[in-house]
Amino acid sequence: HLAKEQASGVQQYDPAHDGNTASRLELLGDLRRAIGTDDQLSLHYQPKVSLATGRVTGAEALIRWQHPQRGRVFPDVFIPTAESTSLIHPLTSHVLELAVRQAKIWAQRGTPIPVAVNLSTRCLLDPGFTAQVFGLLYRTGLPAHLLKLEITESVAMADPDRALTVLRALHDGGISLSIDDFGTGHSSMTYLQHLPVDELKIDKSFVQAMANSHGDAVLVRTAITLAHNLGLSVVAEGVEDEAAVAALRELGCDVAQGYHYARPMPAADFDEWFTAHAAGMSVDA
Ligand code: C2E
Ligand code: MG
Ligand code: MG
Ligand code: MG
Repeated sequence: HLAKEQASGVQQYDPAHDGNTASRLELLGDLRRAIGTDDQLSLHYQPKVSLATGRVTGAEALIRWQHPQRGRVFPDVFIPTAESTSLIHPLTSHVLELAVRQAKIWAQRGTPIPVAVNLSTRCLLDPGFTAQVFGLLYRTGLPAHLLKLEITESVAMADPDRALTVLRALHDGGISLSIDDFGTGHSSMTYLQHLPVDELKIDKSFVQAMANSHGDAVLVRTAITLAHNLGLSVVAEGVEDEAAVAALRELGCDVAQGYHYARPMPAADFDEWFTAHAAGMSVDA
């Protein structure tokens, strides 16, 4: 997607290709200041679409950083850096605040679209996290089922007992939980079976490779079967064309997300897309 979004001509900065500790520290300093301001960090929203009905089942919130000098910096660049420090905590609070406020706006407009927020394992394991999230829901009045948290299989590696306790508390409070990037980590089937999650997202690398690789197609099929056997809904990430849609529908995948439907976009553009999509559906169906 970098190529597509680069078409707008924005400059890219990537400290991973910089290898310089000083510039990494500078990035962290800039990010810390960006969290305190209101104009550099924003969320883009990407729809998730039911393969059975075509309806929008939710939106994933993805952070965007417009750096005053460096231009657009993508999350794959700064999230891992932020995760290596405690800066991930205020950053996540900021994202949650924006996402929950947006979900509240959609709910009040009569189009309650659940919003999914990506959560670093480090935040999940933060002692104050559960209270913070429920505090935010209480303060904004957003029903818990309209917030979804996406976590990765790495929770199983970090501190499995504590992760399980926190996930149970969130889930018992009505928040829905999703396993992101499924297939890229090292999760134990035994552990997965005990996680109180509602959804499994198949990583886009498998979805994109499945058209040309028998092995990847088998992995996608297996992930769908596993999810369904555990009573989970399955989302395919990185769905870019009609062929992928057809193949996933054939395999019984529940939900698709990807450029085929829409790229992540600012809330105003999402609203426009949503209206057009809904209008197209009533004609079609
Ligand atoms: P993710 O959660 O797996 O999000 C999906 C990524 O795939 C997004 O990249 C999205 O723009 C991209 N994508 C969506 N559809 C397609 C498609 O059809 N083709 C291709 N090639 N890509 C597609 P993005 O926005 O650059 O985010 C990258 C990762 O950064 C996310 O992966 C997530 O792990 C992390 N991230 C993003 N926002 C946040 C955040 O607020 N907090 C945390 N902790 N992590 C975040
Ligand atoms: Mg995600
Ligand atoms: Mg993912
Ligand atoms: Mg990812």
